[in-house]
Amino acid sequence: MSLPVSAIYVHIPFCAKHCAYCDFNTYVEKAQTRIAETVEATRRDIAQTALSYARKAPLAEIETVFFGGGTPTLLSAPQLVSILDTIHDHFPLSPTAEISSEANPSSSDAEKFAAMKSAGFNRLSIGVQAMNNEILIALDRFHTVGEAERAVRSAREAGFTNLNLDLMFGLPKQTLSLWKETLETALAFSPEHLSLYALTLEPGTRFERLHTGGKLLLPDEDTELEMYEWCIGRLKERGFEHYEVSNFAQLHPTENFRCRHNQVYWHNESYFGFGAGAVSYLDGRRWKREKLPLRYIEKVNTGLSTEWGESNLEVEGETLTSEETLGETLMLGLRLREGVSLTEIGERFGVNVEDIFREQIARLTREGFLMLSENQLTLTHKGLLFANTVLGEFLL
Ligand code: SF4
Repeated sequence: MSLPVSAIYVHIPFCAKHCAYCDFNTYVEKAQTRIAETVEATRRDIAQTALSYARKAPLAEIETVFFGGGTPTLLSAPQLVSILDTIHDHFPLSPTAEISSEANPSSSDAEKFAAMKSAGFNRLSIGVQAMNNEILIALDRFHTVGEAERAVRSAREAGFTNLNLDLMFGLPKQTLSLWKETLETALAFSPEHLSLYALTLEPGTRFERLHTGGKLLLPDEDTELEMYEWCIGRLKERGFEHYEVSNFAQLHPTENFRCRHNQVYWHNESYFGFGAGAVSYLDGRRWKREKLPLRYIEKVNTGLSTEWGESNLEVEGETLTSEETLGETLMLGLRLREGVSLTEIGERFGVNVEDIFREQIARLTREGFLMLSENQLTLTHKGLLFANTVLGEFLL
């Protein structure tokens, strides 16, 4: 039987600047040599891991590859392409695989996008965040509205026909009308996909410190909910399918623009993660690779085994009990608007889901956050507005 992993995530742990709200594993690295060494280490990591796994079981065809970060486009086109080529050389990559990369407007240009497109990348996710320079400055973003618009145009010129734009709401200085302006400007580019995220104050970030000190003025909760509800209605009018709490795909008669890679996460399926700080998940076990690029490079270069679960690269790992995995599967699956089939999940885990989560399902249904119909459990509209709190109830 082949290894049940058909998704690969590649983490590029560098950014030109650190945004005020971000707690991702990313570093502002000026030395090009360090970036080049990290690229080489990532390629070696991919090759060693593939060889090590292939000795145990045939590798399944890879259906999705996602380059995230950090800022993948901080790398040169040849560096990005060399990593993708390494995946191609060591894994059976499906000819119809979705191959995505995140892109930052300030490090994107037509030439880079064209080289990525001809190497096989077929989806770009551009971190636009806001269409207002004052807000972008408040976020410590490194780009302007003009650069975001140029990046989108360059992506189209390079031939990308599957484009996601990341936008944020609930931001400092953002009013409902500024949020509407951002979304309308983004819609003018006819993106195939939109990811709309509410700002969250992550521990250790500059925003969190400012907020704790009473120095960060944010829209109140009602305004944030109004922003969210408004965009749900507006995107429906514009022919988008709201398929996940924060994600919207343009409906098309022959194509499906849902992000295939992220659906692997929402279905709680296995994936390989490569690069400094990348997370992998297989058989209920989740682990992270060495986060600091320098240590990651050193460890990869020792050439020790990079086998899952025995890896010298591993810094944080956890094996979930089957009940914890079940809870996570519900929590992630309920993010999808179609919800989860309790019958299918019960069969997958060999349990009766309601025996384990009877109290949560009954209470959240009674309170109007969840709906259970023909064994399909879904978030209601009210549940959608408080999704993170509601779904957290399934974490054991
Ligand atoms: S560009 Fe993205 S990954 Fe980098 S610091 Fe900003 S939000 Fe974080």
